[in-house]
Amino acid sequence: MRRLTWRPAELVAAAAETASARTLRFRVPGWPGHLAGQHVDVRLTAEDGYTAQRSYSMAAPADGDLVELTVETVTDGEVSPYLVEELRVGDQVELRGPVGGWFVWRPESTAPVLLVGGGSGIVPLMSMIRARRQAGSRAPFRLLYSLRDPDRRYYADELRRPDPGLDITYLYTRSAPEHVSRPARRIMLDDLAEGGWPASFEPDCYVCGPTGFVEAAADLLLALGHAPERIRTERFGPTGG
Ligand SMILES: Cc1cc2nc3c(=O)[nH]c(=O)nc-3n(C[C@H](O)[C@H](O)[C@H](O)COP(=O)(O)OP(=O)(O)OC[C@H]3O[C@@H](n4cnc5c(N)ncnc54)[C@H](O)[C@@H]3O)c2cc1C
Repeated sequence: MRRLTWRPAELVAAAAETASARTLRFRVPGWPGHLAGQHVDVRLTAEDGYTAQRSYSMAAPADGDLVELTVETVTDGEVSPYLVEELRVGDQVELRGPVGGWFVWRPESTAPVLLVGGGSGIVPLMSMIRARRQAGSRAPFRLLYSLRDPDRRYYADELRRPDPGLDITYLYTRSAPEHVSRPARRIMLDDLAEGGWPASFEPDCYVCGPTGFVEAAADLLLALGHAPERIRTERFGPTGG
């Protein structure tokens, strides 16, 4: 197995995604490339030598030595508020990766795909959506994106633009726009039955978000008859320490 090494990474661009999330683009000399769905470890080192590291999914497919992440602030968190609010263009951190070989989508795959994301769990799914578009893939994609309210939407402009073969359903959990008839609530069986693919289509399912969300959505997919080996999950629980 390839040994992963820490590499210096310079922040070359940053943009607010929502009031509490920011997309960060790093230049990482010698970056070996990655697949949509993989993540990296980010390490911060303080002046006194203290270090903290956390995992973050890549938000975009491989593009030379560039690595793009989107980070949500966890209130009282150690690392995420620094990445979202403090890190400036020109600053350096260290990255290690790419990590993960199961929660990945490969452009040569033609099977239908169901993406189910909760909150910042949209990040690796967006990488898959972008990889599909970049490759000119015709694999049919459906995205179910669960989020508290419309202001929490990541990649809002990009996801509004037409992308043939990609269908998107927003599932609001706290407050829905007026024109949406579905009441704000957590993801339920009907949501996956209506916005997903029938199990008989044998779609590859990718579920990502907070642990509770992932477990609930995966259980619903199983209840709808999707085969366990077709359900890939990524849990955004606490990391590092
Ligand atoms: C494979 C993987 C990929 C990830 N990708 C992303 C990503 O793309 N974008 C992103 O924003 N985050 C992602 N995360 C979560 C990320 O690694 C950190 O856990 C998160 O940024 C919080 O770190 P922190 O140092 O700010 O908080 P900490 O100081 O670690 O924790 C502060 C408090 O918040 C709780 N907490 C920590 N993390 C979470 C969490 N994720 N959800 C709820 N409570 C939490 C802790 O238990 C603690 O009580 C990913 C996690 C994994 C395992």
